[in-house]
Formats: sequence, structure tokens, C-alpha cells
Amino acid sequence: MEEKKENGLSNTGNFIHMYVQEDLEGKLNKIHTRFPPEPNGYLHIGHAKSICLNFGIAKLYGGKCNLRFDDTNPTKEDTEYVESIKEDVKWLGFDWEDRLYFASSYFEKYYEVAVKLIQEGKAFVCDLTAEEMKEYRGTLNTPGKESPYRNRSVEENLDLFERMKKGEFPDGAKTLRAKIDMASPNINMRDPVLYRIAHATHHTTGDAWCIYPMYDFAHPLEDAIEGITHSICTMEFEDHRPLYDWVVKEAGFTTNPPRQIEFARLGLTNTVMSKRKLRALVEEGLVDGWDDPRMPTISGLRRRGFTPESIRDFCERIGVSKANSVVDSGLLEYCIRDDLKTKAKVVMAILHPLKLVITNYPEGQIELMDIENNPENPELGTRQVPFTKNLYIEQEDFMEEPVKKFFRLAPGKEVRLKGAYFVTCTDVIKDENGNIIEVHCTYDPETKSGSGFTGRKVKGTLHWVSADHCIQTTARLYDYMMLDNPESGDMIMNPNSLEVIEDCYIEPAIEEAKPGDKYQFMRNGYFCVDTKDTTENHMVFNRIVSLKSSFKLK
Ligand code: ATP
Ligand code: MG
Repeated sequence: MEEKKENGLSNTGNFIHMYVQEDLEGKLNKIHTRFPPEPNGYLHIGHAKSICLNFGIAKLYGGKCNLRFDDTNPTKEDTEYVESIKEDVKWLGFDWEDRLYFASSYFEKYYEVAVKLIQEGKAFVCDLTAEEMKEYRGTLNTPGKESPYRNRSVEENLDLFERMKKGEFPDGAKTLRAKIDMASPNINMRDPVLYRIAHATHHTTGDAWCIYPMYDFAHPLEDAIEGITHSICTMEFEDHRPLYDWVVKEAGFTTNPPRQIEFARLGLTNTVMSKRKLRALVEEGLVDGWDDPRMPTISGLRRRGFTPESIRDFCERIGVSKANSVVDSGLLEYCIRDDLKTKAKVVMAILHPLKLVITNYPEGQIELMDIENNPENPELGTRQVPFTKNLYIEQEDFMEEPVKKFFRLAPGKEVRLKGAYFVTCTDVIKDENGNIIEVHCTYDPETKSGSGFTGRKVKGTLHWVSADHCIQTTARLYDYMMLDNPESGDMIMNPNSLEVIEDCYIEPAIEEAKPGDKYQFMRNGYFCVDTKDTTENHMVFNRIVSLKSSFKLK
């Protein structure tokens, strides 16, 4: 097992920790990271990996981590997303203190750097259309061609750039490009675009700007302005690193410039992770919003009933590497089971009710059975569960003609009712269509739970609720959101990803439950009280995860 530090963070085996340590032993005496989401959607579990990594490293080495909104693209960004992202980062247990930044607040600074580059002959205004630029760019095997506008004078460039800023040109008419090397083997270095024209309203700066910096220009400047020491990002930016370093250097940030380190994106089986794909599901109405409990978003996982502890544990277990891989969703399920195992109270809830009548039990009698709240955690105490003549059990716990090894209830067979008595099935009642609507049993008063009865043993123990005392609730059972579609190689929505049970009967102890509370329903899995659809008079439960899994921890 990995060595754990006091703060619960692993300190070995992660190459990023190695780089950071190396820098701390060398030129740096403090470290500063950032989590830089673009507010164009809700955060997902992949972002959680990046959050845990960035905030985790800062915590581990006594440094700081900023929350920075990378909001330099006016068309897709929105304050709704800003608010949700703040909420999610906080909920995950991380604190940016007073360091909440917006890349859009540096617009003036990027502009100054751009002007400086023009003055130094390192940037030019280009009139090539997007189409032409693509042609000029060349390919991996062939060098690019220099733009005919590359040798404009500094004065002309300064004038044109200012007029771009003033709004004299329509979208796409001109760009500002770095003057680097059209023959570079790295396509990112072939005179990349730094600014484009976009007459669009920005969510924080409104209509103040009609030129916007490109990500590859703005991002390194954001890091440098904030004094970031380690700019941790995902693998697709590896080829952009030379440009990142170029921008930082040419802008004049020469002492301890930020160091970009790439790591592999998280992928999960049976789900999609990109915000673009998640947004499509929301917009097409295939899910109940960004926080649909099937979604891999932080808000979806929270609503489903995942805890911050379980998500942090998951991020710790998957580790950090440079090789892209898809993690089994079963690992995430393992983590929430592991977290709730001793935390959640265990109650009896019937998902598919079958009436059970104890014919020799006195009508109107109520016995309060003492049952432990969590067999794995005695600290959670016990509760009283009312036992009566009319009960409900699960339909699948009864078979009129039992198959081999069926140790539950069947005609003539005896089972234990959890925390109560042994009962023996004496009769089966059917409706006119032959469907079983009731089973009749007799109980043996000698066998009361806790009485020390040792007369005989039974193989099956069933959960049950009193038909006169149970609470009717709605339960939602989930399957994976997406299925592999071998034909297209892409994924499709699982048509059976949601099953709604309108008659889920739960023992009265559930009355105390508040939205967001988590329980284990005996034999049926972990459930969470839905925070959106639960009303004062009706509870809705989301199944977080079933109890059993085919997933094995390696
Ligand atoms: P998406 O494609 O889902 O929109 P993104 O990379 O565009 O993702 P950003 O908002 O730019 O999303 O991401 C903020 C940070 O989170 C970035 O540093 C990015 O590298 C990281 N990140 C995003 N997705 C993942 C993922 N699946 N695994 C790990 N880190 C991720
Ligand atoms: Mg993005």
C-alpha cells in the first residue's frame, strides 16, 4: 500500500509530486497551483481528479491553489456555470480562500502583451481567412507557408490591431498571429493565432471587447500573472507546451516561470465525460438536467447520494499517470459502498411488495422489535420496528414452486423474518388471473428474535415491513447511463437506465429522513433522499448503488 501522510494524501508514486519536490529542493521556496475550469458547463468527475490533484498538491506542500475561471470565450460561458462550479469545488472539500479569479479580468493585460509583441516584431495582423490559414499551415510532414501579411510594418500592425479592438472589422476578417516559425515540426508553433475578432457579449465584461485572446495565448499569461509555479493540465496540451513557454517568456515573465506538467484525463466506463456531450444530453431532454443522478457530473453524483469523501477516495485510488485509460465505474461504486458501510443506518424497505398475513397472530396487536441500526457499527444504536399481523415482503422472496437452492419462502417452508419470528407458509392466495396477491403464514411465538431460541435453524432471513405502519415512497433505480454501441464505436443512452418504483414501502423509522440523507435498504442497496423531488408529504429515494458488485478491487 502507498504510504499516507497525516493529511491523508498519498506522497509517493505520483510523478507530479516528484517534479514539485524537485523544484522545492531547487529554485522554488513555495508552490502555487490553480484549478482553471471554463464556465461552459457543470463540473464532472474528471474535473474532480484535477481538483483533488491541484488542491491536494498545494495542501501537501503547504502552498496555495487558486480557483480561476478560464472565461475568455464569450459565446459559451455563463454565470449559472460559475455558481455551480464554486458550489461543487466547495462541496468536494476544497477552499480557494480569497483567491477566486477570472481570466476575463486580465483582458487589458493580454492586450498590453499583444501590443508589446507587435512592437518587438513578434506578432502581426493577418488577413487570411480561416480556410486559407488552414492551407498555409502545412501538415505533420510538410512545413507551412508564410502568410503574405507576415511582413507588415510594426506601425501598420499597431494601427490594424487597434482598429480590430475598436470594432472596425467584422468577425473573422483579421487575426493577430505570433511570428514564430512556419517550418517548425510542431504545428502549434507555426505562427499561431493570438487574437480573433468576435462581436459577442461576454458574461463579465459585456460589450467592452470585440477581440478575444485565444486559449494558448491567454492561459500561460493567466498562470504567469497569478504567480503559478506548476500549471497542471491534461495530455492534449503536451504539444502546446513550447508555445506556452514562448508566450510566458516573450511577455517578460522570466523569473520562475510556471512549469506546465501534463497528466492523463480520466475516462469512466459506461458514461461520457466531455461537457459538450453532457450538455447535449441536457439540451435534448434525455436526462433531468445537469444534476440528473445518472450523470457523471459532481452535482449529479451529489444528488445520487455520493459523498465528497467517496469521490476524493476514488481520485486517490485511480492515481495520476501519463497514459490515458478508462477506469471501471465499479471502482467509484466500491468507494461509496466503502464510505457508507459503517456510516449509513440500515432500514427495511420493500421495493416490490407482496402481502404476507400471519394467520395466527392477533389482529390489532403491535410488537416493537428492537433492531440494530448498523450491524457493522454498534455506535449507531438500535431502533424499534413495529411487527403486526399484516406485513409486506419482497415478491422475489417467495416462490410457489421453488427452484433448487431457493432458501426463501415457499409453501410449507419456514424462514426467519429479520429481528422478529420464524414463519411458515401455509397458503397462497391468487386473483382471478392466477397472480399471487397474498401469502399466508403462521408464526411460532417461541422463536422471537433475542429470546435465545435454539430449537431449530432456518436458512433464509427476509426483510419485511408492517403493512399498517409502513410509509409509501417512490424509489428510483439506476443503471449505467450509456452503453457501448459497437456499430458506431460511440456510446448511446441506455434506454433502461432509470426504473421508477412508485410503491416502495419503508418501515416508519424513515420518517426522520431529510433530503440528502443516506440509508442502506437491507438487501436492496444504498439509497439517498432526493433533494429535488422530495416534498413534505412524499419522499423520493435514489438508489446510489446496489450492495453487490462484480467489480473486484485489484
Ligand atoms: P471538457 O472537455 O469536459 O469540457 P475541459 O478540459 O474543456 O473538459 P475545462 O473546464 O477546461 O474542461 O477543465 C478544467 C480543468 O479540468 C483542466 O485543467 C482540465 O485539464 C481538467 N479536466 C477536464 N476534464 C478532465 C478529465 N476527464 N480528467 C482529468 N482532468 C480533466
Ligand atoms: Mg474546454
